[in-house]
Amino acid sequence: MQTSKTLRLILGDQLNSHHSWYSKPERHIVFAMMEMRQETDYVKHHIQKIVGFFAAMRGFTDWLRSRGHRVVYLALDDDDNRQNLEENITFLLRDQQCECFEYQSPDEYRLDQQLTAIAARLPVPYQCVDTEHFLTGRDEVKEFFRGKKQYLMEPFYRHLRKKYQILLSKGKPVGGKWNFDQHNRQSYDGAVPIPAPMVFNNRVEAIAAMLEGADVKSFGRIDPRRFIWPINRGQALQQLDEFIDARLAHFGTYQDAMSGDHWSLFHSRLSFALNTKMLHPMEVIEAALKRSPVSIAALEGFIRQILGWREYVRGVYWAHMPAYADMNFFGHTAELPDFYWTAATNMNCLKIAVEQSLTHAYAHHIHRLMVTGNFAMIAGIAPDQVDDWYLGVYIDAVQWVEIVNTRGMSQYADGGIVATKPYAASANYIQKMSDYCKGCHYSCKQKIGERACPFNSLYWDFLVRSRPKLKKNFRMGMMYRVWDRMPADQQQSVLEHAGSLKADLNAL
Ligand code: FAD
Ligand code: SF4
Repeated sequence: MQTSKTLRLILGDQLNSHHSWYSKPERHIVFAMMEMRQETDYVKHHIQKIVGFFAAMRGFTDWLRSRGHRVVYLALDDDDNRQNLEENITFLLRDQQCECFEYQSPDEYRLDQQLTAIAARLPVPYQCVDTEHFLTGRDEVKEFFRGKKQYLMEPFYRHLRKKYQILLSKGKPVGGKWNFDQHNRQSYDGAVPIPAPMVFNNRVEAIAAMLEGADVKSFGRIDPRRFIWPINRGQALQQLDEFIDARLAHFGTYQDAMSGDHWSLFHSRLSFALNTKMLHPMEVIEAALKRSPVSIAALEGFIRQILGWREYVRGVYWAHMPAYADMNFFGHTAELPDFYWTAATNMNCLKIAVEQSLTHAYAHHIHRLMVTGNFAMIAGIAPDQVDDWYLGVYIDAVQWVEIVNTRGMSQYADGGIVATKPYAASANYIQKMSDYCKGCHYSCKQKIGERACPFNSLYWDFLVRSRPKLKKNFRMGMMYRVWDRMPADQQQSVLEHAGSLKADLNAL
């Protein structure tokens, strides 16, 4: 039987070498990968993010070719590159004389919409297939929470533990509890030495020079002779091994800790490898389960991130897009301060969190949630600007995971679909979980005055101005009672101080 020649598109975050597409080379299949201005320019990205995706795509192409597959690769500076999906696909179908088009279901709403529209206009038959990556279907969260306003991660996570029989014994959670989170909230006390982060010395000079030559706008820093992130599956597996051998045992305990001397502590830094699909979430979970003699608290704490949070945020994304991208529950409109792009601030916690984000295109969850995210929310920054920053700055930032964490979890702009209360905190939290306040220009104990920590008055200002929207939230009741007991003249001074800070956030 004659088989139609088929063009199969692989997007930059679809580098899943275990996909059934690649089980054996077939003469009638041409795989297509493309670096495009539509992807470098839809938001301003960290230079390492663009380089990382392109380097991993090139690595994946090499792997496909080594396995005998036919691949056309359009580099950004290729003369044939039309720089957008539609024109490139049309060109390649003609150039390669293909009679069919196939693509994997995109994870970003933007690309999903675009490819659906393009496919419908093509003069050839087309097919969309699964990426064979996630552990849940796109609509599984939506179905699970049908009719509910709030989507709580915990029941969905338990559903997945049962579905995949993970950490279960005779239908009951191993260790007697589903969740060991209360063991996992310690600051870093130096008791356990932190191994230096495992980094690679990838040479990416050619890609960096190409981006510069094409005048692609980006920000952040890069050493193109020593690109630290994994750019192929071999390196991703090495990083996974190192995490399990050297970090997993202490991951949970110090998961929320922040330290001026250590930028990633016991975190895995696997998000880039997972989000590009170089690693499969189940192989990460199985590696942790099989190879590690660590405590149930440590194991459960890590597995909850991958099996629970990661699948859950993806499901929330598909349940609420495109409306999610416009949500602004508090009506925040302020401009994102310049120091998010420069780290030039006297606030030590923000300086450190932004500085390492600019240096490594990485910050761990608590930096993102309780430092940069918390500040943006209590200062009243417009969620669109906060989203653009997070979508650009991190090596792992793909919209399906970025936006639910940013707009939902950190900014509460979704009005409580994912979080039961806003993650707002004063200096007290940062002081407890880090060593940042010791070296800070500001005093974490003071609410007003020139040296008072800005988080303190901005925190109360946020609570007071949001009271009409939060007063029914029973989890906020205690904080409002604390405020109500504060003498009126002190309340006024705190709000006046916050007002003066908000008038010029760039001066902080
Ligand atoms: P670890 O702490 O080692 O956790 C292991 C893995 O669990 C991660 O690699 C990740 O795949 C998964 N995971 C952990 N927490 C979450 C979560 N909340 N949501 C989804 N998956 C999770 N994660 C991204 O992958 N891309 C983003 O763009 C992104 N943006 C974020 C923005 C904000 C404001 C916040 C608060 C969180 C964001 N996260 C994002 C979630 C989380 O912070 C990162 O996944 C994590 O910091 C990546 O580092 P790691 O690989 O060392 O994670
Ligand atoms: Fe951050 Fe305030 Fe502590 Fe300074 S005092 S590090 S600004 S929390």
